[in-house]
Amino acid sequence: MEEECVFCKIVEGKLKAWKVYEDDSTLAILDIKPVMDARNIGQCVVFPKKHVSKYYELDDEELAKLFKAVKRVAIKILEKLKPKYLTTFVRGMRVPGHAHILLIPSTGESAWDMMLEASYLCWLKIPPLSEEEMEKVAKLLGATKT
Ligand SMILES: [Zn+2]
Repeated sequence: MEEECVFCKIVEGKLKAWKVYEDDSTLAILDIKPVMDARNIGQCVVFPKKHVSKYYELDDEELAKLFKAVKRVAIKILEKLKPKYLTTFVRGMRVPGHAHILLIPSTGESAWDMMLEASYLCWLKIPPLSEEEMEKVAKLLGATKT
């Protein structure tokens, strides 16, 4: 637990939040400020109760529980809110220092969707890596070509 961490305060009950899911190691809450567009209602934040900066700092069991919770909350959002898209976003900018995963339901017409569409259009213009570039990175990661 970190004194100044918003998520730790929620875990400890020092801050109120709308809990969507909870188990012994994971909590999911409604996000008070949806990404980019208030029409994206039902955005949730799923996070481990343990204060870790990155999800890969969790042990395998804690990590499995975190992603099982992400799946449960995602299914709940899809069934109850029926968004056109549901983005799963792991970056950790919202609350630096405490790992979290955003589930972002969207209408397909929100500012979030427009940003992703613009990003996709840019991606289409980028040429794929050359075979040489692929071999270089594959060597670094120990990847094999199948
Ligand atoms: Zn924390």
